[in-house]
Amino acid sequence: MPDIKEIPAVWISAGACGGCAVSMLNTVAPSIKNVLIDEVIPGVHISLKFQVNISAGSGDPVIKVLEDVGEQKQGEFLLIVDGVVSTADRGIFCTVGERGEERIPVRQWVVDLGKKALAVMALGTCSCFGGIPGARPNPSGVKKLMDIYKGEGVETPLVNVPGCPPHPDWFVGTVAKLLTAGLPKPEDLDDWLRPKEFYGLLIHENCQRRAYFDEGKFAKHFGEPGCLYELGCKGPITYADCPLRQWNNGVNWCIRAGMGCQGCTQPEFPDFLGSFYEKLTDVDVPKIGEYWKEKED
Ligand code: SF4
Ligand code: SF4
Repeated sequence: MPDIKEIPAVWISAGACGGCAVSMLNTVAPSIKNVLIDEVIPGVHISLKFQVNISAGSGDPVIKVLEDVGEQKQGEFLLIVDGVVSTADRGIFCTVGERGEERIPVRQWVVDLGKKALAVMALGTCSCFGGIPGARPNPSGVKKLMDIYKGEGVETPLVNVPGCPPHPDWFVGTVAKLLTAGLPKPEDLDDWLRPKEFYGLLIHENCQRRAYFDEGKFAKHFGEPGCLYELGCKGPITYADCPLRQWNNGVNWCIRAGMGCQGCTQPEFPDFLGSFYEKLTDVDVPKIGEYWKEKED
């Protein structure tokens, strides 16, 4: 039987709601069982050393596992971080474990392990861009992982996989690509370090309601046919492949289900996109009604 290469991985949940983890655990093809037990790609197995929702261990043994991975697998393991990193009051609002009487801020874990990892994946919009916990007024001083690493001089390769939550395929696909093709090249990522395979397309360009938009037919109420632009759709400025990939194993996605895209994969989400049902204001959308207006003139 050929040797199977084992890649250790550690998943730290920082200031997170748990939604990213739930979304990943719902992966269908491959199933999460396949991801964790079988070979993710032929000859390579991911050995997940710790993930708070599914690891059986707790207490000191878990802390030892985290420390051992950092010490013994330096430059060999993948670090996955979901959630924001709290910085106010020395990061005491988000801690993982204790040493003696001292709680260990999650900031310390992500920096210490981040320096030693082969690569880091920021999973979910909180970790990538601050997301909802990073919205005003942000009392616990949370920061995105990129900013923490910049401030601490961590130069380990970082990939952002945003979404609130991210699609499980975006996670599994990014991991598989790391294992097959190695660390991403600059041209594989966009300006926000998102893999272009999943975040290279504008929602608006691939939306099933786009014909309505071009004709200036806008829904005034939810449930009506028409483009959802006036009901707050953020698709014209959002990059993700939701219209093509769809969610829940390809069953449906936000706009086809009747709700405008909320721009959840964007760094501007949520503070700089307006409220969920508010029309985008400062975006240049030149085609609204133009086609029919020209015909009437
Ligand atoms: S504004 Fe939204 S609903 Fe309308 S076409 Fe663009 S993405 Fe689709
Ligand atoms: S359609 Fe928009 S809001 Fe919905 S999951 Fe995709 S990027 Fe997020």
